[in-house]
Amino acid sequence: MDRKDSIIIAGGGLGGLTAALALAQHGISVCVLEGAPEFGAIGFGIQFGPNVFHALDRIGVSAAVLEKADEPPAVLMIDALNGKEVTRVATGVPAFRARFKYPYIIIHRIDLHNVLLDACRRDPLITLVGDAMVTRFDEDSDGVTVKTEGGRSFQGAMLVGADGIRSRTRAQMLADGDPLPNGFMGFRTIVPMSEVTADVQRDIVALWGGPGFHIVHYPLRHGTLFNIVAVFRRSAHSERGDVAAYRAQLEQAYRNAHPTMKALLAMLDLRRRQAIGDRDPIRHWHKGRVVLLGDAAHPTLQSLAQGACMAIEDGSCLADCLADANGDYEGAFRRYEDARSIRTARVTLESRYIWDVYHADGIARDVYWQMLGERSEADTYQCLAWLYDGFQLPAIANR
Ligand SMILES: Cc1cc2nc3c(=O)[nH]c(=O)nc-3n(C[C@H](O)[C@H](O)[C@H](O)COP(=O)(O)OP(=O)(O)OC[C@H]3O[C@@H](n4cnc5c(N)ncnc54)[C@H](O)[C@@H]3O)c2cc1C
Repeated sequence: MDRKDSIIIAGGGLGGLTAALALAQHGISVCVLEGAPEFGAIGFGIQFGPNVFHALDRIGVSAAVLEKADEPPAVLMIDALNGKEVTRVATGVPAFRARFKYPYIIIHRIDLHNVLLDACRRDPLITLVGDAMVTRFDEDSDGVTVKTEGGRSFQGAMLVGADGIRSRTRAQMLADGDPLPNGFMGFRTIVPMSEVTADVQRDIVALWGGPGFHIVHYPLRHGTLFNIVAVFRRSAHSERGDVAAYRAQLEQAYRNAHPTMKALLAMLDLRRRQAIGDRDPIRHWHKGRVVLLGDAAHPTLQSLAQGACMAIEDGSCLADCLADANGDYEGAFRRYEDARSIRTARVTLESRYIWDVYHADGIARDVYWQMLGERSEADTYQCLAWLYDGFQLPAIANR
């Protein structure tokens, strides 16, 4: 395949598809190479802060996303030992909308992915190629050649590595090793709401924080499904897929947890677990004609629920910078990094801090709970303003 004038994107996740849509809107043709046999998401829930809508508006999909999403009345943090509320963000109230302009939403990843995919399929400037796992790239004076498993070859003017936390594009570009595991493991499950046996408030986002473990739950698809994420600090080695060992480790980690949490654990699908990790932030995500975005550039812990939001913001920002490049793609990559690196690094570093807050033990836990408990609604909004207000696109002539 020879498309020297188009941009190749490795990875058809949320970041890659957003970049494709945003580039196509600027009249730039794009070829998205997805490693999985089919384009699609792993089917769990996702939370979005209001900041994501600045980017979703720009690619014209906000209304379609909102149709599939729900707006929880609040995001609650609950003490995992005694079941008492520690703090809350009132998300479903007029004051939240007035402050942040857009809502806080929860949505099924598959629904979100389909909105983006449908928009991509309607755009003649976007080519989607499945079963195309990128293995390497080579650069010359007028473009990049990208190789995939199975020996296929694609040519483009530039390569965007949107291939997630285990990015092969990053590995070749930076050779900086694997992401940093933080010692925690996660299980994710969706069950029909009618099968929820635990005594929980079902319309909110709840985070139960305990020493070395936490559970997040919220509804999906207009209250018909219930999404649960359970995370704990792994204390012993176990073979991949050893459900009995996983169960024993969970029981050990959650032994002092509130009975409601134990009822939530009983609903978990333990067949697949996920190691949790991130990377130390860096300032530069490009070399020559190749640039990274989303988790490939700056993977983060999920404590702020912002990894995908950042990938989507990146995609929109990168497209704007490239649209004004006038051939100076390296200048465009630098403007993109300048616009995005501090914000995404702050997400990574604050997420680590909040992770420690969620899982604190002893007197540290008492201190954090006191600090959180003292916050007024206005304080909470102020703490989130840097994030939820969105970010400044780089100043570019002609915009
Ligand atoms: C438990 C958990 C909960 C989370 N909750 C939230 C949340 O509520 N809100 C939020 O904003 N974020 C959340 N995140 C983070 C979010 O999932 C990620 O930050 C986001 O998916 C990153 O998007 P991406 O497009 O960069 O990468 P990905 O979503 O990982 O997409 C990468 C794509 O590239 C493909 N690919 C991989 N390698 C190759 C290759 N070599 N060639 C071609 N294709 C390739 C993959 O198949 C995939 O389709 C959560 C993460 C976890 C683990």
